[in-house]
Amino acid sequence: MLKTNKLEEAPEVKAIMEDIIPEDVKEVINISVIFDLGEAKKEIAKAKKADKFLNFYTGIDFIIVVNKEEFEKLSEEHKKALIKHETEHIEIYEDKEGNPKARLRDHDVECFTSVVAEYGPWTIELKQLERVIRKVAK
Ligand SMILES: [Zn+2]
Repeated sequence: MLKTNKLEEAPEVKAIMEDIIPEDVKEVINISVIFDLGEAKKEIAKAKKADKFLNFYTGIDFIIVVNKEEFEKLSEEHKKALIKHETEHIEIYEDKEGNPKARLRDHDVECFTSVVAEYGPWTIELKQLERVIRKVAK
């Protein structure tokens, strides 16, 4: 077998994910977690939808790819936050027949801090984020 990818099983990350994702989500989708030992990337982790071939042969629906070197620098709390973030990218919905489906979704807040610094929380999403930050900061 050709071995061109620098990938490694990530049981520590899998355990964090198993604690985080709700049971009803676990029943619907199969998420795999893997460490990428390749060169540093922009993101510490990324959720990806499995292509049809990977899904056919393994039953995996989504993969969370984690940069091992960067992941290991995080505190335990931030490791959980990272994995929670990535699992939030996976959205469960029902198709027209009521069958559960899953897809990737974008962040619910996207912004530049420089714009917020000048204009404050000017969108509905930023106002929601402001409320959440005030609530957890108490
Ligand atoms: Zn993200």
